[in-house]
Amino acid sequence: MDYTIETLIPREKVEQRIKELACEITKDYEGKEVVVLGLLKGSVVFMSDLIKELDLPLTIDFMNVSSYGDGTSTTGVVKILKDVDQELKDKDVIIVEDIIDTGLTLSYVKEFIKAKGTKSVKVCTLLDKPERRKVEMKGDYVGFEIPDEFVVGYGLDYAQKHRNLPYVGIVVRK
Ligand code: 5GP
Repeated sequence: MDYTIETLIPREKVEQRIKELACEITKDYEGKEVVVLGLLKGSVVFMSDLIKELDLPLTIDFMNVSSYGDGTSTTGVVKILKDVDQELKDKDVIIVEDIIDTGLTLSYVKEFIKAKGTKSVKVCTLLDKPERRKVEMKGDYVGFEIPDEFVVGYGLDYAQKHRNLPYVGIVVRK
């Protein structure tokens, strides 16, 4: 497919919003230690910016779950490809995701993590496409609500490319 990428959210706006989210999280978790749990690979760029701004004692961990193929449509199947490395019993966990779309991935992962006996589980997502929801799933910390468009950059890919773009862009067919 021949396509171009049009800027949706410029770098400065993303960076500014991440600082605001981190400030909110720092306040909410004052006096606590948190586990910041990223979902590979899409959350990596957002998460690395976010944790640098968090003024809290924390550890990081990652899970890898499959929800999408190399195209742009959901399979609806959630498979755990990599579980966390640490014990999460009695921990305060913040799951970090790049985008909530249908909500299928996060609703599954959230229950999977809760079942480990955590003290609390919250969700922080850079982007949210509320129009596309198939199951109820609300992010506790949401960077930006965006329209129903396929986006790339800031960790999000199209056929594994463009994760390194320092802004969020819409994939537009030529
Ligand atoms: P959900 O289970 O909420 O439908 O899907 C979440 C996952 O789908 C995200 O972590 C992301 O990998 C992928 N996804 C959903 N919408 C987009 C999009 O607009 N662009 C990209 N690159 N991935 C998306």
